[in-house]
Amino acid sequence: AVEVHDVHKWYGTQRVLGGVELTVRPGEVTVVIGPSGSGKSTLLRVINHLEKPEIGHVSLNGEPIGVRRHGGRLKELSERAILAQRSQIGFVFQNFNLFPHLTVLDNVAAAPVATGRLSKPEARELARTLLGRVGLADRTAAFPRQLSGGQQQRVAIARALALRPGVILFDEPTSALDPELVGEVLAVIEDLATSGTTLLIVTHEIGFAREVADRVVFMDAGRIVEQGPPAQVLDHPAHERTRDFLSKVL
Ligand code: ATP
Ligand code: MG
Repeated sequence: AVEVHDVHKWYGTQRVLGGVELTVRPGEVTVVIGPSGSGKSTLLRVINHLEKPEIGHVSLNGEPIGVRRHGGRLKELSERAILAQRSQIGFVFQNFNLFPHLTVLDNVAAAPVATGRLSKPEARELARTLLGRVGLADRTAAFPRQLSGGQQQRVAIARALALRPGVILFDEPTSALDPELVGEVLAVIEDLATSGTTLLIVTHEIGFAREVADRVVFMDAGRIVEQGPPAQVLDHPAHERTRDFLSKVL
């Protein structure tokens, strides 16, 4: 499970996260929605320890991320230890962030080799399997620039899977795509969801949230306003701010 414990984050004097508590259980799909600037991306970045919270911490399967317990206090881990932890968390970005100079196959095979988990031939075999799973078995030799946005995002998902992460975080994975390419990427994410992968997804695709999420979390101004099953949060929101947001995006 991913557990976010009372996380507070400031940028200068601006408070961006104000005491976030969130648990993502194994095999669960949690979708985070909320207005621009509400702290959704910051929350994902804190979970991955790309940003350090000023207060609180995140744990993955009971182990604090980026810090260790020392006496009663939390101390920052070494950069190396943080990288090792981060390899247990997949991250799929809005803009794909593929390595432009590597083929599709090597984009997916790179991390298991770099982390010493697999030999190059083993990693390439795994990459072929994962690329087959996202429907790209025939594009392994292509370079990212030769692919559509939807195909690039599917490569990014295969790349995230290659480290067999305990959870995959998605930050608006379809919002940079042309509308006709959104469906193919959502279909791949839905396939992961049905196969029991633990997912935390920030998206504005409310229909997708309704179909796929076990839990929907609504954030506003750095706080979780409400969370619950999609039928509750999306169809019977308890808070005015949630109703107001949904009336704008639905
Ligand atoms: P969007 O839906 O537009 O992606 P978001 O919910 O993901 O929004 P965040 O990107 O988490 O929001 O940003 C939350 C707030 O933190 C915003 O006011 C933003 O301007 C501010 N912020 C984010 N990153 C930084 C940074 N590196 N330095 C300073 N302020 C930042
Ligand atoms: Mg964002």
